[in-house]
Amino acid sequence: MCAVVGVYNVKNASKVAYYALFAMQHRGQEATGISSSDGENIFTKKRRGLVTDVYSDEDTFENLKGSMAVGHNRYSTAGSSSILDAQPIVAKYKLGEIAVVHNGNLINRDEVRQKLIDEGAIFQSYMDTENIIHLIARSQKDSLQDRIVEAIDQVKGAYCFLIQSRKKMFAIRDRYGIRPFALGKFKNGGYIVASETCAFDLVGAEFVRDIRPGEMVIFEKGEEPESIQLYEPSPRPCAFEYIYFARPDSVIEGKNVYEKRAEMGRRLAIESPVEADIILPVPDSGIAAALGYSEQSGIRFENAIVRNHYVGRTFIEPIQEMRDLKVKLKLSPIKKIIEGKRVVIIDDSLVRGTTSRQIVKMLKEAGASEVHFRLASPPIKHPCCYGIDTPSYGELISANMSEEEIREQIGADSLSFLSLDGLVESLGRETKYSLVSFDGNYFIR
Ligand code: AMP
Repeated sequence: MCAVVGVYNVKNASKVAYYALFAMQHRGQEATGISSSDGENIFTKKRRGLVTDVYSDEDTFENLKGSMAVGHNRYSTAGSSSILDAQPIVAKYKLGEIAVVHNGNLINRDEVRQKLIDEGAIFQSYMDTENIIHLIARSQKDSLQDRIVEAIDQVKGAYCFLIQSRKKMFAIRDRYGIRPFALGKFKNGGYIVASETCAFDLVGAEFVRDIRPGEMVIFEKGEEPESIQLYEPSPRPCAFEYIYFARPDSVIEGKNVYEKRAEMGRRLAIESPVEADIILPVPDSGIAAALGYSEQSGIRFENAIVRNHYVGRTFIEPIQEMRDLKVKLKLSPIKKIIEGKRVVIIDDSLVRGTTSRQIVKMLKEAGASEVHFRLASPPIKHPCCYGIDTPSYGELISANMSEEEIREQIGADSLSFLSLDGLVESLGRETKYSLVSFDGNYFIR
């Protein structure tokens, strides 16, 4: 998973891109980068780390000049976490210079990469995104636009690309529209394209519409953006964006993420009711679903697990004897509320089952008389290869154990998942979703 942003025809574009990346930090915390253009040159800054750290030098935005910028937050789904795998990727080729950012995952990357290597290409990184640069550079077409079209035609998978030359910006989305990608506008006429609409709210842009599946939008000379439909749209937005990944204040394909999560919680309460005294969310991922469950069941919602927001991914792994420390650093129960209660604990999803086991233990130690685990999504039985970082089959608990075995493993008194039908009903049946993690239907051939 990653976040991308493109800003066009806006004063201090790099600063706007920075705020947008800050709003989308949840989509990737490994590395971040911005390339700006002043029409003559492309300037780039990228580094491992969080948005607030990477751009903290005083002269950062003075150096990232111009009224256009593309930016990226990285969460590795393909490639390694080395700095070479940070984006934007910037390259000089026959017609000039380009900066490319990508959110998604190209499923034919190995074939394309091998073909390019056989033809003599030299790769700088392990990222699938680099394929696009090579394909553009090697194309014999006369314009960058035609080269991009030819390059895109050779890749398959989930992609939202932003490609910036010195003067133009291109936004391209795959025909299934798997990852979110939205267009916003500033009052003074400038544009912004971002993975999530929460970025628009922070920078004061107005949502215009989603970039259509299969569409290429071209930003040029401060004119109205031009739209070219490259492929017949066949929409399959990713259900996991609604379940876990996107921020609750974002709107994807006209649907607010928070409302969808609450609806999943309500359905879960209908499908899997339980006699209990209080509902607790796993913060923050389970909050909206827990509120929905509480509303539907009439059982009181208590925010009785406190989350420490300062635990980063880089925190040193605790030694074996202090295994519980990892979850305790992040989550702490309010004993007074939990003691002697029958508790329903709600999370958005179960992946490896490691956090959930520790949460159940923590609640029992805090004095809960019963712990009922409820998951606001179906069992994750298959890895996603369309841009979400799910582990392989061996690590996915639901791919290897029955529900009863999982219940026993995590130590809960009962365990239930939202059904696949309940998920689709919550999201709205009018749309076909990408549900690969749940049904294993890898629909891109
Ligand atoms: P576990 O208890 O180990 O199965 O982990 C489940 C937790 O991981 C839930 O709280 C989810 O919100 C969270 N989660 C789900 N998918 C992902 C993902 N792709 N990357 C990081 N965390 C995730």
